Amino acid sequence: DLLVVGSANADLVIGVERRPAPGETVLGSDLAVHPGGKGANQSLAAARLGARTALLARVGDDGHGRLLLESQRAAGVDTDGVLVGGAPTGVALITVDPSGDNSIVVSPGANGRLTPEDVRAAAPLLAAARVISVQLEIPPATVAETVRRRGPETRLVLNPSPPAPLPAEVLAACDPLVVNEHEARYILGDGAGRTPQDWAPALLALGPRSVVITLGAAGALVADSRTDSLDHLVSPEVEAVDTTGAGDAFTAALAWRLGRGDALREAAAFAVRVGAAAVTARGAQESFPTLEEVDAL
Ligand code: ADP
Repeated sequence: DLLVVGSANADLVIGVERRPAPGETVLGSDLAVHPGGKGANQSLAAARLGARTALLARVGDDGHGRLLLESQRAAGVDTDGVLVGGAPTGVALITVDPSGDNSIVVSPGANGRLTPEDVRAAAPLLAAARVISVQLEIPPATVAETVRRRGPETRLVLNPSPPAPLPAEVLAACDPLVVNEHEARYILGDGAGRTPQDWAPALLALGPRSVVITLGAAGALVADSRTDSLDHLVSPEVEAVDTTGAGDAFTAALAWRLGRGDALREAAAFAVRVGAAAVTARGAQESFPTLEEVDAL
């Protein structure tokens, strides 16, 4: 039902007392290796909720790639579309200091080698999907090819993260464009109004059929050009432990429910609950809830 076209990374995390200055070496904690990347996060989040999910991505022929494939398969994701080789698996080198602040270096690796040709070769996967969810941790030409090759009935959900310029052709295909506050400000630039209520119509004016703006603990705003509506969905109050991956869990849940035929507002009301559940536990993929855990909120 859901096809995620996106990145797969190994997150390599070391806790440090402080970051090294140039030329300096510091000692850190034991290394923790977690499967991550926005694409792999989303497909895993959807599968954990019970969605029939496939992932189109590229990993290296290495241990990190195998870790990603294994975690996806264990969650029930169809990994036939995960290509192997061409470059090392994408890696995020993350240091975390005692205050919880991160410094991150990303090596896109194999994610940068997911090509438009790979998308064309996956035509059956694209044709079978009710919804395709895309982010921007893969080459822009690959995103554009995905948009062009989607089936006539296939709905496209795009989270422009990390923020980058979007061609009009891609913007026009989004239904919805899903952004957090940072991404909304990037896209709107100096033209951004003061509040998210101002951003929603400004984003719609750029071409997407609908827009969802996630607002952290405040939930999400949903704007639909078809119904000319603007709705605020509040998030359940939870004790936030770690917000890593909340946006990915949100978008995966939204895309899955849209594919099942939910209206945008209903799908977003479900997604804010999934996002809230995801912040109550540590980590990204480790924190993604099952349907039972969402219902228990
Ligand atoms: P991102 O992770 O992309 O920055 P947000 O921070 O907006 O995105 O979070 C995405 C969704 O996760 C929100 O819409 C909300 O449903 C949920 N969420 C995030 N932080 C919290 C929080 N502190 N309490 C409850 N829900 C949260």
